[in-house]
Amino acid sequence: MTTELEIGLYIFILAGFLGYHVITRIPPLLHTPLMSATNAISGISLIGSLVVAGANYSRLSTVLGFLAVTCSSTNVVGGFLITDRMLKMFKRKQEMGIQRRWHQLNRQQWLAISVLIAVLLLLIFWLRRPGTATNVADAATALRYSYIVSAVLFILGLKGLSSPKYARRGMFLAAFGMVMAIVGTLFHPEIVNYRWITIGLAIGSIVGGSMGLRIPMTAVPQRTALSHSLGALAASLIGISEYVRHLAVGLDSVKMTTIGLEVVIGSLTFTGSLMAAGKLQGLLPGAPITYRGQNIFNITLLATVIATLIYLVFVPSASTLFFIIVGLALLFGFLLVIPIGAADMPVVIALLNSYGGLADASMGFVLMNKIQIITGSLDGTSGFLLSLLMCRAMNRSAINVLFGAFGKVQEEEAGAAGEAKGTVRSITPEELTVLVDSIRSVIIVPGYGMAVAQAQHGVSELAKLLSARGIDVKYAIHPVAGRMPGHMNVLLAEANVPYDQLYTMEQINPYFPEADIALVVGANDVTNPAAKNNKSSPLYGMPILEVDRAKSIIVLKRSLRPGFAGVDNELYYDPKCMMLFGDAKESLNQLFAALKS
Ligand code: NAP
Repeated sequence: MTTELEIGLYIFILAGFLGYHVITRIPPLLHTPLMSATNAISGISLIGSLVVAGANYSRLSTVLGFLAVTCSSTNVVGGFLITDRMLKMFKRKQEMGIQRRWHQLNRQQWLAISVLIAVLLLLIFWLRRPGTATNVADAATALRYSYIVSAVLFILGLKGLSSPKYARRGMFLAAFGMVMAIVGTLFHPEIVNYRWITIGLAIGSIVGGSMGLRIPMTAVPQRTALSHSLGALAASLIGISEYVRHLAVGLDSVKMTTIGLEVVIGSLTFTGSLMAAGKLQGLLPGAPITYRGQNIFNITLLATVIATLIYLVFVPSASTLFFIIVGLALLFGFLLVIPIGAADMPVVIALLNSYGGLADASMGFVLMNKIQIITGSLDGTSGFLLSLLMCRAMNRSAINVLFGAFGKVQEEEAGAAGEAKGTVRSITPEELTVLVDSIRSVIIVPGYGMAVAQAQHGVSELAKLLSARGIDVKYAIHPVAGRMPGHMNVLLAEANVPYDQLYTMEQINPYFPEADIALVVGANDVTNPAAKNNKSSPLYGMPILEVDRAKSIIVLKRSLRPGFAGVDNELYYDPKCMMLFGDAKESLNQLFAALKS
């Protein structure tokens, strides 16, 4: 057991390093698909769940396994489908309008998948044919090798995300790895009953499939949070099942540690992610909920959970305590997220993604399943890296995000900073057409308001019209514009904007002084010059898009209200700046119509 644990730990650490190496090479353009891809891959917890649901351990284990199969298969199907939907949208200019040979490729690839699965099935059938125990052992060996191949395919899948060109192919390999692991697991020697497995897989596929195919791109953050909660719930349920099962035969301290970590991390991630999804969907109040002594209470609660867990490691038979820590962990996840504002949820989601990875890896340790240790480690690394990236781009620390009740503080500051700071000039769409007549270059700066207004198609149509008039159009994408990493990239890809027109902040900033117009569509904080000039501003130090250096600035938003950070934007008082007030989609439609006429 100890040797197995050591090997598991080595695998966990090495997979983490490998994950770091692969994931740091994924461009911000594909950060949203990365989130859903790791989500789909971490659905590998399905294979552990299949064994628990299908083995004849106990009625309780079967029920918990069935629920876990349903949750995990929802993640697998939904995760791969939505990732593919997103990746399909990323095209370069010369690929626009050209039907890529994906159709044909897909057919060949599906054929290859079918043949390989058939070969795998035949092999395992043959190895498991009625006969000697050696055949069962051979089948188990075949299964282990199929897991190794699946792990390689997952890593290649993530590596594919380092370029939009290879991303879909990479995800195809990862999906193939997943199918192989699942089909192989169905022949696991301990599985004796397929009824609950079949029902769980069917429900999970229907729910995941409809989510993956139907969910609008603007709802991707909440879908991601929801699937983290499902994955974590699956890990927690399997942990409970394994605890009850092993309790009867005796639990050693290693097993108890891994089960304890699995249920604690799984349970807190479950309620935390559910809260995050509720806040993002608007089902729960988005503002931070705070009270006196909140942080101290939360830290005490966490310390109690850890102390109880340590006690359980030495006295695993204290089953009442075990169920108490499950309850406390569920409560902790809930309390951890309520003081965080809805706008900070993307960082929280990425962090919960990383916790979900840890829960998955712990499940791998409990079941001594190496592929789960690998995917858990990859998922954990990806979530952690993304949250760090977001914090860096916002110039804030993870501690500030988790414990700072940011939205609340900023709302108060916004109230104080609400008074007018100078003269603001406004412009109508008709007046803007006159200005457009004499320009040669435009940089479009999309932000969260574009997502709210669903104005991405209007932006794309306007850009096409301007390009047709010989005007050079570029898009400036700030790493934290919108409400999740890569948010703007996905929305613009959905509106058929070629990704080679999208420039990162570092690439575009030198172009601003040459730009005749910087057209800001629903962006605010990411353009605020106070981040460069005003040491007392909460935004000071955050890298921004240097819109203020353009020859003229047009801002499309509804009012002078601040954005996420609650800070007044100095840009609006710049003599070069003109405000086109109104909903971004409507303003763009009016501008388009005025330009056409
Ligand atoms: P922002 O600063 O939040 O500003 C968005 C602006 O959109 C608002 O000022 C709002 O002004 C406008 N707006 C809302 N609805 C609109 C509509 N229908 N039509 C036109 N305008 C509309 O957005 P941002 O510049 O994209 O900056 C993102 C912020 O989110 C940053 O502070 C960043 O740190 C934070 N954040 C981002 C991430 C991420 O991963 N992307 C993660 C966490 C936090 P009106 O109300 O006046 O219209």
